[in-house]
Amino acid sequence: MALMTGEQYVESIRRMDIKIFMFGERVSSAVDHPILRPSLNSVKATYDLAHKPEYEDLMTVKSHASGKKINRFCHIHQSTDDLVKKVKMQRLCGQKTAACFQRCVGMDAFNAIFSTSFECDKKHGTAYHKNFLAFLREAQENDWTVDGAMTDPKGDRSLSPGKQADPDLYLRIVERRKDGIVVRGAKAHQTGICNSHQVLVMPTISMGPEDKDYAVAFAVPLDAENLFMIIGRQSCDTRKLEGTTLDVGNSEFGGVEGLTIFDNVFVPNERIFLNGETDFSGMLVERFAGYHRQSYGGCKVGVGDVLVGAAALAADYNGANRASHVKDKLIEMVHLNETLYSSGIACSSEGFRTESGNYLVDLLLANVCKQNVTRFPYEITRLAEDIAGGLMVTAPSEKDLRDPKLGPYVEKYLRGVASVSTENRLRILRLIENLTLGTAAVGYRTESMHGAGSPQAQRIMIARQGNIEQKKQLAKDIARIE
Ligand code: SF4
Ligand code: FE
Repeated sequence: MALMTGEQYVESIRRMDIKIFMFGERVSSAVDHPILRPSLNSVKATYDLAHKPEYEDLMTVKSHASGKKINRFCHIHQSTDDLVKKVKMQRLCGQKTAACFQRCVGMDAFNAIFSTSFECDKKHGTAYHKNFLAFLREAQENDWTVDGAMTDPKGDRSLSPGKQADPDLYLRIVERRKDGIVVRGAKAHQTGICNSHQVLVMPTISMGPEDKDYAVAFAVPLDAENLFMIIGRQSCDTRKLEGTTLDVGNSEFGGVEGLTIFDNVFVPNERIFLNGETDFSGMLVERFAGYHRQSYGGCKVGVGDVLVGAAALAADYNGANRASHVKDKLIEMVHLNETLYSSGIACSSEGFRTESGNYLVDLLLANVCKQNVTRFPYEITRLAEDIAGGLMVTAPSEKDLRDPKLGPYVEKYLRGVASVSTENRLRILRLIENLTLGTAAVGYRTESMHGAGSPQAQRIMIARQGNIEQKKQLAKDIARIE
């Protein structure tokens, strides 16, 4: 089943015994819970879109491993064209969900581990690339959603993994057995963890030889023994429990995060992709981060498209659409959004072939892309709120709108232009609220800041890749300095 339908995906998750906790209680499955279901729906969209003929070229591709048609989210990039199409696919998915559709983390982990395991094997004589290829083939064949897990809780940021007061603050190997390893630790902020088939774990920082037990990469199914997750709270999350849709803003799609705990989880040898080779930890982190920073030049742009559209509609609905300052603000939003896209496309076009044969993005441009993402969505959001007006946060609830006594007053006094219903005006304002302050703000705002690495992480990479010495030489040449 190299290409599952959305429904088949939903049923495949329902069949798994994933241990999810929320509000202090075990949740039977992400499929039927009103807070979790929108997150699952976003991933479902990556399956549904793959069956639409008009998106076939973006959403599907021929596997380099099996020659079969697969979902691009499971693909190993074979060219810069593949890298460009990846970004375009993410923009499309962002436009269709206005949320984080979660599946990119696995795709980015696939590609980072593919090349890193190859180079590690070459140096150390290990067999991680072969292990990984077998896992990849299974992932492609079963059309799995794989959650890439990188971020450890990290405890005291001034201390390396092994020096922490609690040694589990970075995920580590606690036992080495003949048939595999046992790992303990946690991965934080894992979007999509509750509706993935497998989790692909990677180290979170480059490490020295003393941190051997922390330099580990592997895959396990989400319903592995001793693996469980605690779902994170989001602003306005319980609105999804109220049984109304208008107040949620985006009632179909979303994304939720979980603190994922590995409480002595066994990993068989054939699913280990790094085990103590600390000298490859940094490479893996750098490549994964590069791919995921490229990703943000697609997904956040797609969500930005929806926000620009919502702001423009809000202006239409209250009659402000012809004001020159409103037009100018919309132009500015488009300009910022397309600037993000430009760097997403640029780092893809300037990608290069790795020793293993897959393609990696231009790391400088990918980091510039993500650095812009830490800023521009905030300005786009500010402009959207400006255009939306205060009603975005003061409007009564859907229940008031539907109330026989109060409804007519809400209708009457909150109407903008006469040709548009009050309900539609409120729908657009709630969508803007959702994207800027509500559950989707996790994915559009704060994730723009910290997802794929906080701003300083990109600045370190920009410093490393910026080649200032070469630029000094250019200046010397022009200034005729010997
Ligand atoms: Fe994909 Fe964007 Fe979500 Fe990352 S934040 S998983 S790139 S949609
Ligand atoms: Fe992310």
